[in-house]
Amino acid sequence: MKKIISVLFAVLIVFQIQAQSKTTKNKDANLPRVIILATGGTIAGSGESSSKAAYTPGQIPVDNLLNAVPQIHELARIKGEQIAQIGSQDMNVDTWLKLSNRINAIFDNNEADGVVVTHGTDTQEETAYFLSLTVKSDKPVVLVGAMRPTTAMSQDGNRNLFDAVTVAAAPDSQGIGVVTAMNEEVYAARDVTKTVTTSTATFKSRNFGPIGLIYDGKVSYYYKSLRSPAQKFNIKGLKKLPQVEIIYGYADASPGAINASVEEGVKGIVYAGMGNGNFNAPVGKALADAAKKGVVVCRAARAGAGRVTLFNEVDDKALGFVVADDLNPQKARVLLMLALTQTNDQQTIQDLFFKY
Ligand code: ASP
Repeated sequence: MKKIISVLFAVLIVFQIQAQSKTTKNKDANLPRVIILATGGTIAGSGESSSKAAYTPGQIPVDNLLNAVPQIHELARIKGEQIAQIGSQDMNVDTWLKLSNRINAIFDNNEADGVVVTHGTDTQEETAYFLSLTVKSDKPVVLVGAMRPTTAMSQDGNRNLFDAVTVAAAPDSQGIGVVTAMNEEVYAARDVTKTVTTSTATFKSRNFGPIGLIYDGKVSYYYKSLRSPAQKFNIKGLKKLPQVEIIYGYADASPGAINASVEEGVKGIVYAGMGNGNFNAPVGKALADAAKKGVVVCRAARAGAGRVTLFNEVDDKALGFVVADDLNPQKARVLLMLALTQTNDQQTIQDLFFKY
């Protein structure tokens, strides 16, 4: 008798599970599809103590990240893929190309309505900008990270992931393109920058502010960047990008790093100048010599906000320089690398900096 009861009980449980998964499936069919591409970072980081800072980024595989936030399955039909498992200080052109090609394929094949990319915060702004220049769809691509590893007290990754899926799945996000979503704020890829080394409120746009706010499982938009390029760069088939170095300006700087870069054969130099992209005389001469040799020289600023404007204290035309407008040096490098895949004409590249 006992046996019969336990068999009946087991059958009942199986029925219940089937009924549950059927309901979930039915419900799922109405939900948007979101693919989560994991690349590592602190959001996948783990440490030995919940109260101490020491940890290693990129330890937790994508399935475990998704399992840690089961609530995301109420927002969307989720699939996860591991693209890389690195701290974003090790982010590189290979991974950018892989990521961008995969996202283009996802949208070309209509595999998802939105994509979330989990990513370290150190270079997230560069990856976001690269994707915004190379993904040929305006469907949402939402980059997200964390400042505290998964093992930390008050870790921020789970909430940030939930918010990122909220953004990727929201009907209002169709047409938004590449953004970052962290700490309840949404930023346009070209404007966002990491501003604090350790704070959870690290992502800001120093010139323009967030375009949207996330709260309680909803995103509200307020602005849209007019600098989203209509014409994206074609990176299909590319194995690498032209080499561009960033060189920092400071009082009494020597031209050594510039000359070494030119000797190494770089195709472009982004100069992170003082104030409005300024340099001292020896650096100015080295940059002008570099430009004469065909290296594209772009003046950016180390100041952290504002624009670098043409012909202020520098005769850009005579010296053969372009300016970065309001892009910070690391983003100017991304645009210059991509521009150099198409041209090294100074005026054409300058136009791109004023448009993109
Ligand atoms: N170094 C880490 C990374 O960028 C920091 C972080 O994710 O917050 O991968």
